[in-house]
Amino acid sequence: MKLWKNGTFYTMLNPKSHVNQVMTHDGVIIAIDEDVKLYEPLEMIDLKGGFAFPGFNDNHMHLLGYGKSFFCLNVHMNPSKHEVLNQIKQNFHNELLRVVGYLNVGITKEDLDLISKDQVIILRHNDFHSFTVNSYALNLLGIHHETGMMIELEAQPFEKLWAQESDEALRLKTKKSIETLHQFGITSIVTDDLSYYNSYLDTLKIINDMTRENPLRANLLVHHQVLNDYVNDLYRQHMDNPYLSFGWVKVFYDGTLSSKTAYLIDSYKHENHHGYSMGQENFEFILIQARKNNLGIAVHTIGDQALKEVVESFKKYPPEKGFYDRIIHASLANEEIINMMKYMPIILDIQSQFISSDLPRVLDLFDDVPMIYPLKSYIEQGIVTVGSSDAPIEIPNPLLGIAISESREINHVIYQKDERLSRYESIKLYTKDGILNPEVKRGHIDVGYLADFTVFDKDLLKCSHKDLLDAEVYMTIVDEKIVYQK
Ligand SMILES: [Zn+2]
Repeated sequence: MKLWKNGTFYTMLNPKSHVNQVMTHDGVIIAIDEDVKLYEPLEMIDLKGGFAFPGFNDNHMHLLGYGKSFFCLNVHMNPSKHEVLNQIKQNFHNELLRVVGYLNVGITKEDLDLISKDQVIILRHNDFHSFTVNSYALNLLGIHHETGMMIELEAQPFEKLWAQESDEALRLKTKKSIETLHQFGITSIVTDDLSYYNSYLDTLKIINDMTRENPLRANLLVHHQVLNDYVNDLYRQHMDNPYLSFGWVKVFYDGTLSSKTAYLIDSYKHENHHGYSMGQENFEFILIQARKNNLGIAVHTIGDQALKEVVESFKKYPPEKGFYDRIIHASLANEEIINMMKYMPIILDIQSQFISSDLPRVLDLFDDVPMIYPLKSYIEQGIVTVGSSDAPIEIPNPLLGIAISESREINHVIYQKDERLSRYESIKLYTKDGILNPEVKRGHIDVGYLADFTVFDKDLLKCSHKDLLDAEVYMTIVDEKIVYQK
């Protein structure tokens, strides 16, 4: 039994509700405020005036991919072709080089061949859907390609080349990933990893071991390509790891805005195409497979036409009562689609940080700009809307997401200002339960809820907008255990 005292615990039941002390036992809150006197604690933890919230969640990310990003060359600070190539040249040490954060500025295989003809150089585009590679990498896979710029489907064979690594290396990177998440106050994630690395089972074993060693709750999305592995997996059934759960099959309905492959209602400006989609029929085939295995779908959906079709299919094949599907991103929408989603069992995994990364750049893609990241509209219509970083795409620091959800301001311009959230709503994106398992109470500080807390040194609900980004995580607590302390 542990008494957590000397703090302000925001319950997140409403903007004002808070308590001053909390008693926990066996990973659950058993008493709050004056009622803690009914118990004799074994341990007392002083929060030193900190401000505690229900544990912060990142509802869509890539745990291993994020860990891996620390060990790649990151070129995101370099906007010009010349500078990127220089940076690669300086960091190439005659062995395979992986590069992240590359905004496609037209580098080709010829440019990379000048740096190396006998080692792989592979650039992952910043949207993670495409690669640029040198001739050596192309030859290794027996692929002929004019430019070496592999977009969407063409890029898929290079996934393995990107991902393959020793078990030991992947463990090290996963550990680094979890430690960093704890530093950002993250206690729980929904993560998509199982299909990209050496094998489904190897990846699952790594995540199982690492989350057990270093508690982090993780719901593992099952990419449809490994659904069979998952269904026939005996290891999973004997894992007995309280921090791991499953529930959704991951599928990509469309592409991304920066690759102009997000599937749009109107065509892209100055171009007569609408982007790419997997097609409703293919999607429904996977949806039916998921339903057969009592799983929901977690579908990557960026364009407004993609969103419309996905929602139609969900309507056609609804999950069983009490279950939800997830729509990852839901970047573009219109009122008609939002109305359609209103009473449906859907969880939206949105990334507020995309507002600052994408705007105003992507506005040039449209003749008429649709509703873009319409967070307020989603929330006002009662659709379950939760926050995430899609790390390694964005830094999984919730404070960055909270700040931009509130301001939607970039270089003194506010984009679609009616979609700004209040501070409370912005924080709630990260505390709200994004799993909705009726057997586990999450998302509030109250009796019966999980003993997961994120403690800050500043009052996030009351501090100025400017101070938000100076706030620091003082302590991260998962399952009653302090996993990080400043
Ligand atoms: Zn993702």
